[in-house]
Amino acid sequence: EAFIKEIEASNDTLNAYVVKTPEKALAMADMADAKIASGEARALEGAPLGVKDLYCTKDVRTTACSNILGEFAPTYESTVTQQLWDRGAVMLGKLNMDEFAMGSSNETSRFGPPANPWRREGSNQNLTPGGSSGGSAAAVAADLCLGATASDTGGSIRQPASFTGTVGIKPTYGRASRYGMVAFASSLDQAGPIAKTVEDSAILLEAMCGHDAKDSTSLPEPVPAWRESVKQGVKGMKIGIPKEYRVDNMPEEIEALWAQGIKWLEEQGAEIVDVSLPHTKYALPAYYIVAPAEASSNLARYDGMRYGTRVQGDNLVGTYEGTRSEGFGAEVQRRLMIGTYVLSSGYYDAYYLRAQKVRTKILNDFIEAYEKCDALLTPTCPSAAFAYGEKADPVQMYLNDIFTVTANLAGLPGISVPAALDSQGLPLGLQVIGKALDEASCFRVAGAIE
Ligand code: GLN
Repeated sequence: EAFIKEIEASNDTLNAYVVKTPEKALAMADMADAKIASGEARALEGAPLGVKDLYCTKDVRTTACSNILGEFAPTYESTVTQQLWDRGAVMLGKLNMDEFAMGSSNETSRFGPPANPWRREGSNQNLTPGGSSGGSAAAVAADLCLGATASDTGGSIRQPASFTGTVGIKPTYGRASRYGMVAFASSLDQAGPIAKTVEDSAILLEAMCGHDAKDSTSLPEPVPAWRESVKQGVKGMKIGIPKEYRVDNMPEEIEALWAQGIKWLEEQGAEIVDVSLPHTKYALPAYYIVAPAEASSNLARYDGMRYGTRVQGDNLVGTYEGTRSEGFGAEVQRRLMIGTYVLSSGYYDAYYLRAQKVRTKILNDFIEAYEKCDALLTPTCPSAAFAYGEKADPVQMYLNDIFTVTANLAGLPGISVPAALDSQGLPLGLQVIGKALDEASCFRVAGAIE
């Protein structure tokens, strides 16, 4: 009830929720009360959560914040959200995001952007909470839910967490089922939570992960008790510092944040080692070929025939054209054009195939670096939260993902933990990238920084 009240009071200004489900929440809370009363409380009993609008929720409008999905209400529930409800969590509503999760500022949503609850000192200007999981991050930061589901294809959990002073983790590719998550780039997409603390994020991630026969890329490995890693400390751990992440024109404040993180870990008994990830400079170009290519294939299904919006044309092709021209926003159309171009015969070898080879090299860089260390420490983003419209040039927007896309290309787990405030009073996050299936080390290091 407290969260529902808070949503009523501040969602008009924050625009974090795009669907509110208070009746559903109260009914689920009653069930939770009954379980608690009968001594049968489950792991998340009564925990009020928000759900990124990317997750299919049965009978509740799910549009990935795109006009093309109209008023689509799925007939089934995503595996990740079902697992949360099966453990007693309560659903407060659906959270704002960039259209089809394409963006770093949440400005491409059909519902308009959410606002970051943080402001620059002495300024009233609204800032972006980051993207694509901007609604999830804003809602958690503003206490409009206890935690939220998010998704990360190239940084969409970690970057909004960094911009809002929250914790966000993307697990190893395949840890969480993609069944019932609206697909963007299937070989990169991963579910994960945004939460207030590292411990909360571990509790939520445990509930969200696990093998699912409905997703052929889902991993069979059991889910560890990650919560236990959070307070284990970093004594004896080897933490790698990748020199290629010291990019040109890196703001001094980001350098200082990184140095501070290194110092904290050293003081707590970790050994710091320098490592090299030589193909880092090719990560953004490779990502912005692979992701649009897969998106162009995944989004081919929105043809006006099956669900959502239909704009009737004179013939079949006319209907496709009308539906897709009106239904998709500008950024999605840009990605679809890039994607179909790099997949077309004649360009496939030069772009898509080449990008896939670069991806293997990036993964091999990590494997080599992990011979010398247990986890890597980097800044999450090259900047703090920025203002709407500040990155109107798409390439400037893409450059914000420089430190996050590598973990997706290599399928590795990555966590962002709040670590400092910049000179204008805005939160900055540090990122820990772990070995495949070693989320435990991410939680240990993040727990030590927190
Ligand atoms: N900002 C990146 C993009 O626009 C990542 C998005 C994401 O992780 N969903 O593609």
